[in-house]
Amino acid sequence: MEGYHSPQVEARVRLNTNESPFPPPASFRAEVARLAEGVDWNRYPDRGAARLREKIGELHGVGPEQIFVANGSNEVLQTVLLTFAGAGRSVATFEPTYQLHAHLARVSGATVVEGERNADFTLDPAEVERVLTAAHPAVTFLCTPNNPTGCEEPPEILDIVAALTSGLIVVDEAYGQFASWSAAGRVADDAAIVVSRTFSKTWAMAAARLGYLVAPAWLVAELDKVVLPYHLDAFKQAAGLAAVAHVAEMDERVAMIVAERERIAARFDELAVDHWPSGANFVLFRPQTHTGRQVWRGLLDRSVLVRDCSGWPRLAGCLRVTVGTAEENNIFLEALAAIVGSR
Ligand code: PMP
Repeated sequence: MEGYHSPQVEARVRLNTNESPFPPPASFRAEVARLAEGVDWNRYPDRGAARLREKIGELHGVGPEQIFVANGSNEVLQTVLLTFAGAGRSVATFEPTYQLHAHLARVSGATVVEGERNADFTLDPAEVERVLTAAHPAVTFLCTPNNPTGCEEPPEILDIVAALTSGLIVVDEAYGQFASWSAAGRVADDAAIVVSRTFSKTWAMAAARLGYLVAPAWLVAELDKVVLPYHLDAFKQAAGLAAVAHVAEMDERVAMIVAERERIAARFDELAVDHWPSGANFVLFRPQTHTGRQVWRGLLDRSVLVRDCSGWPRLAGCLRVTVGTAEENNIFLEALAAIVGSR
């Protein structure tokens, strides 16, 4: 197997991994420092992370029994696949999408069935039907907003998938806070729909690795059997609780990032680049006059790092830029204009 790679290169402006450009609020950092003092370092943590689950549940209007927490949403997804996929089963993805879905499915021993998106990266219901009726996947992934395209799936696609599969539907909402709708409201006892979220983006906590899932209680109980005991350390549980107490600051950041995203998209309209509508904190774009690699290199020469997707299947010529601070975005846009010019 190939490993999952996200190459890191030194650059002044780093817009390649969809992180928050802002550190968490100072009051959060002070609180975390204080909490470190209060951790019972010689004791195992609360295995069920009860308080953290309760507080996250409150954000979604559900009880703690409907929340599963883990070390980043990657570990959430891995636990779901270890529980419900595995050898002899198949997992459906619609490409291009977040590469780790297929990777983690294969690591679990499952067979990956890849559906294709339309040329504009939307999903064709006929293709969804073709894949789901042919493969009967144990798990079907939807990613909204989708990484790396930025496109939001409309709620109707979830209805279509739900009508066509008796397997589990995982809606990856790592960028859900930037989007116009959430599937979390669709989680119900009699539906096999789960929604994963992360603290890595809006919550500006990529360094701490914390993610969660909203799911029916019966399903969370199965995940708890599979995940390692004490997988979520006490300090992280405390840090997560402190973060949840800062919802207002986080919402402000989301608003700033969404406004900057729209500014970047508007500037793209003036430059010789194609781009796709994004509901996330990044934008996928394709230079019209240069190869993706040339533009990636040209940006790096100006100390701006973006993600080069141009060598990935179905993404010829494409680059992905994470929305940064206004200043970082200005540096990026000026560098890009100097390379590609106007339309
Ligand atoms: N899902 C998607 C779609 C992502 O883009 C990412 C981050 N690259 C993740 C999940 C994982 O996020 P984390 O493990 O940091 O929560």
